[in-house]
Amino acid sequence: MALKVRPRTTPETGEWTLRKGPFVLGKLADTIKAIGWRTNRGGQLWPEVESQKRQLRDLHDGVRQFFEHGLDRYFEYHEAREESLGQLRFLDGWVEVVKGPDASLVAWAFLYETDDGLREIRRLRHSTAQATATAWAYVAAHAAAEYVSHTPVKRIWVTEVGLFDGIEFHIVDGISRDEARALYEERARSDVLAAIRGTAKVTGRGCGECKITGVCDSLVCSDGFLQLDAPGPWTRSVSASDLEAYERCPAQWYMEREAHLPRLEDGNQALLRGLATHRWIAKAHLRGVPCSLTDLPDPADLDRLSFLAGEEIDSADYELAHAFLRSHVSCCPLQSAASLSLSVEKTLYSYDGKADVVLATKADAYWVDGDTLTMREIKTVQVQPEGSDDEIFSRFLAVAWDLVALEAGLAQRFGAVNGEVQLEILSPSSAVVHTYSTRDAALMRMARGRVRRLARQWLADTQWDPLPNPGCSRCGVRRWCGARDAFESLLEGAVTHEVGSAT
Ligand SMILES: [Zn+2]
Repeated sequence: MALKVRPRTTPETGEWTLRKGPFVLGKLADTIKAIGWRTNRGGQLWPEVESQKRQLRDLHDGVRQFFEHGLDRYFEYHEAREESLGQLRFLDGWVEVVKGPDASLVAWAFLYETDDGLREIRRLRHSTAQATATAWAYVAAHAAAEYVSHTPVKRIWVTEVGLFDGIEFHIVDGISRDEARALYEERARSDVLAAIRGTAKVTGRGCGECKITGVCDSLVCSDGFLQLDAPGPWTRSVSASDLEAYERCPAQWYMEREAHLPRLEDGNQALLRGLATHRWIAKAHLRGVPCSLTDLPDPADLDRLSFLAGEEIDSADYELAHAFLRSHVSCCPLQSAASLSLSVEKTLYSYDGKADVVLATKADAYWVDGDTLTMREIKTVQVQPEGSDDEIFSRFLAVAWDLVALEAGLAQRFGAVNGEVQLEILSPSSAVVHTYSTRDAALMRMARGRVRRLARQWLADTQWDPLPNPGCSRCGVRRWCGARDAFESLLEGAVTHEVGSAT
């Protein structure tokens, strides 16, 4: 919805208002601005950078480490840029052009100029800069060109800078003010107008930051979903995989999923094969016919892969997923007539008014049969886990989450009375489907309890401390974590101790 581009709009939401959480990136922007103002007044660049880094002390340790790294990369670029353009004066970090009595264009970016009218407006990327020009770049160029200072504008650059690698791309390269205006009219204005006129409500992860979430009828009403009596410190959004990640390590969850720090991809095989398998099954199910072995030729024989004709096929993905896909054939949900109208891999969003949290629920497939809404979750493993349905249940949080979601409004939303979760576990040699129903009272108590325990911890936490664990050595954000080697040291300590006591 277009509320984001209308910062002064206050929609009618009754007693509910969006409670905003801390805006972490704002702190980095403030630091860059402060360094700009101080160097304008004659401060030396690097001493100012070091002194401003001290303002970041209160942040989460991982975010602080990343911001310090990013500030070094950003100002290394800045220094190199001054060598080619001349000394740069900082103008603004919120560049606004008034377009009419009630309208202005704003680019949240950093604007600099030289004494002879060369201007550069910079957008930050957490990881790597992108080279493609979007409507944003033309809005930014136009805003940068129209910004009023004492120096007439000669040429304008729009540049993206990657905070992780310090590499820049000049997306708009030294154009004049007139050219900036023409490019805006030609390539961005219609997008801006479309954004302002937008009224369609599209649910998504952003719902947790939207001004109408508390009263939005596109969200499934799921009061009490998280089993909590009171809301947390601000309006949030969460999924089962968030809570699973949080349980493993609050710091990792925070750095990856809230602060979006750059990840070092470790090519984790289990993760890649899971993603590949899900992607393939979702595509196959869009056909509305059961998967069969003839759909799945040997990876060496990709030409025979007819059902995805015309689509780009990633052969490495296919090879990873192949054995799991063959296992899936024996339990494909489309074999039963009831599931012929199933929906595929869609995220369903609901809202828990008691906890003030948006919930994202994603199943691999779901369908209604009579009075029951069934959700199918697919997991890939190397070896089928042993144990009763209850033991399997406790290993996969997604099952508890889905059961609670079904009970807390999803089933009703689809015209069903009961809910059912089918957990399909695929190994390279077999497939097993475990089935769980919302009619099982004892199971539902366990499911609610599990969601409540985790959600309560997650919602109240504003520190996100690291929890050293065996996964630390493969953690995607370990570079930013002060406790990255703590688990290994613990192990070494234990070994030394054992050796010591044995002698
Ligand atoms: Zn299938």
